[in-house]
Amino acid sequence: MSVENVLKSIADNNIEWIDFRFVDLAGRAHHISLPASEVDADTFVNGVAFDGSSITGFRGIEESDMVMMPDPEAVFIDSFTAHPTLNIMCNIHTPDGERYERDPRGIAAKAEEFLQKSGVGTTAFFAPESEFFIFDDVRYESGMNSSSFFVDSEEAAWNTNRKEEGGNLGFKIGVKGGYVPVAPVDTQQDIRSEMCRLLAVAGLRVERHHHEVATAGQAEINFRFDTLKKTADNLLVYKYIVHNTARQYGKVATFMPKPIFGDNGSGMHVHQSIFNGDTPLFYEKGGYGNLSEMALHYIGGILHHAPALIALTNPSTNSFKRLVPGYEAPVNLVYSKGNRSAAVRIPVAAVTPKGCRIEFRTPDSTANPYLAFSAMLMAGLDGIKRKIDPQELGYGPMDTNIYELSDAEKFKIRSVPGTLDEALDALEADFEFLTEGDVFTKSFIENYINVKRAEAKAVAIRVHPHEYSLYFDC
Ligand code: GLN
Ligand code: MG
Ligand code: MG
Ligand code: MG
Repeated sequence: MSVENVLKSIADNNIEWIDFRFVDLAGRAHHISLPASEVDADTFVNGVAFDGSSITGFRGIEESDMVMMPDPEAVFIDSFTAHPTLNIMCNIHTPDGERYERDPRGIAAKAEEFLQKSGVGTTAFFAPESEFFIFDDVRYESGMNSSSFFVDSEEAAWNTNRKEEGGNLGFKIGVKGGYVPVAPVDTQQDIRSEMCRLLAVAGLRVERHHHEVATAGQAEINFRFDTLKKTADNLLVYKYIVHNTARQYGKVATFMPKPIFGDNGSGMHVHQSIFNGDTPLFYEKGGYGNLSEMALHYIGGILHHAPALIALTNPSTNSFKRLVPGYEAPVNLVYSKGNRSAAVRIPVAAVTPKGCRIEFRTPDSTANPYLAFSAMLMAGLDGIKRKIDPQELGYGPMDTNIYELSDAEKFKIRSVPGTLDEALDALEADFEFLTEGDVFTKSFIENYINVKRAEAKAVAIRVHPHEYSLYFDC
């Protein structure tokens, strides 16, 4: 929308509040609201000031003044406010009017510009499948002590999950029993449909929703692919709507990758492809999975840089509790068509030339989507530039169930990092593909690593519940 049209829509819809939003390093949205009477065309030129020193990973207190620059292309009507409110996503600038180098949305814009300058194509498309759990909101009553979060075997998880629901165990979902059963087993049809209705109000095109594999309450909603920055914007809208709809139903939704030990975690598989104008560049009939050479090189780049990339696509200590064998989350850095135990899958069912794409299955929703999508594009473009052949490097194709290979066969396959610290080590050693064209700056990466190291340390120094069963009676 043009600025003029945004202002017209504010008037036409009797909007009372304009909510200016930006995203922090972790991918969380923050906001400041202005009365509609205070907003005019100048606001889009001068921006809205805020204190950058209070946002983790941004500026120090001595240089705290920052400016939100509203993007008229990124607006949506808020469905959760009593007073009519229009939300506008903003870029972050310094007081001198420069793009702030740590603004994740600014990095996404630079990644898109870099693609165009590279001559590879004009547009990269992204589509995330962001899974989540809907739990009863027990936090305030029982202090988040639900025993299902801490059980230490699959069998115990099964029993605890079912017992917690109480009474007759008929029509109850057990561990890994949640994939698409109809009601009354699935009790969350209506809450997911309401989320989808509100997503449509916010301008997203919903493609489907369903119950996911894990026990009661794991869900997934898919919305239509779009360009890199737009899809990251959409993901923020998606999380906002999922969280707030759950709250309206007296529930709590979480995108935490592995909230329950012994059951499937929540991933954010990311489908991606590159076009030149209207021409899909990843398609070539007859190739492996009908992929072009360019697509294979893109996969080569993703797999080659994966250990470092994962520091941005799986940036939490909890992320690595999901990336273990047996739960449809990838552990092995290989590619394959159809095979869901591979890190890169090539969807082959119901795929048209325009829909031809690759799916990177490692990411989860603790990723900041602006940073994660940008980093994946940079890894893929590096693969294209250097013609990294994934087959030559031993990354596949691997069309058997990798979880079931012998140890000797598995030995040859590279795995994802085992912890956040390992991923950060990999990023420290391999970040030049990100700083190409100054898309990510070196200082951004250094700051990012520092923030994440502190997070890993904060978790490592705390006493873990499982330590009691291992060590208490020693
Ligand atoms: N939940 C699985 C993951 O962690 C994916 C399951 C699926 O979508 N089939 O990636
Ligand atoms: Mg899916
Ligand atoms: Mg899924
Ligand atoms: Mg998928």
